[in-house]
Amino acid sequence: MRRPVVMGNWKLNGSKSMVSELLSGLNAELAGVTGVDVAVAPPTLYLDQAERLIKEGGNKLILGAQNTDVNNSGAFTGDTSPEMLKEFGASHIIIGHSERRDYHSESDEFVAKKFAFLKENSLIPVLCIGESEAQNEAGETEAVCARQIDAVIKECGVDALNGAIIAYEPIWAIGTGKAATAEDAQRIHASIRAHIAKESEAVANQVIIQYGGSVKPENAASYFAQPDIDGALVGGASLDAKSFAAIAKAAAEAKA
Ligand code: PEP
Repeated sequence: MRRPVVMGNWKLNGSKSMVSELLSGLNAELAGVTGVDVAVAPPTLYLDQAERLIKEGGNKLILGAQNTDVNNSGAFTGDTSPEMLKEFGASHIIIGHSERRDYHSESDEFVAKKFAFLKENSLIPVLCIGESEAQNEAGETEAVCARQIDAVIKECGVDALNGAIIAYEPIWAIGTGKAATAEDAQRIHASIRAHIAKESEAVANQVIIQYGGSVKPENAASYFAQPDIDGALVGGASLDAKSFAAIAKAAAEAKA
């Protein structure tokens, strides 16, 4: 039985007052909610504040981050290391988000190196994969996802996916309101799991595969009703405590 994981990617959004309001709201909204892991990934600068607020709220939330460097220290201006993330209590680290692949030219191989370094530092990679609109229209979705996963398997071996999270995020669905249908998402999730199963059935059966791309309280339950969708990576809707909590509750209910 895979325990669902719902994670909020706040991207470049936040201020001290927003972090305080959002996390206090989530601490209240998630009281008594069980059967789902709920994580938030604020901008790095707010990790300290978020760690304190999560502790004050009784640790109902898991702290995550949006990126990592592939070094723990040294002359790498502007970067943040796994050791630093760990010191602030962050455990679930998003890597390979399409915005980083696009705007920072991160290759499959570089993302795989990040994956390996997170594992080496006992952190949980949340590996984002997914196809562009053109690739989708060309029928290349499964091949793109397989290629992105194969880079990780090549770098670290299939067993490294044990305990990790994959977030399938069709790029055309991110922040557009144009979500994939639950049936299409299920088909791709099943193909991702089947691809990993070619290397190891045991790893494929336990790996969490989240869907991401315009998940909202209104469509969340339809995704979680699918057997291979184990949670969600949520952007826009994670900036509102009520909406994000409703998505987390939908996951807990569907997978109970
Ligand atoms: C994301 O950025 O990971 C994401 C899924 O965004 P949104 O939910 O806003 O589409």
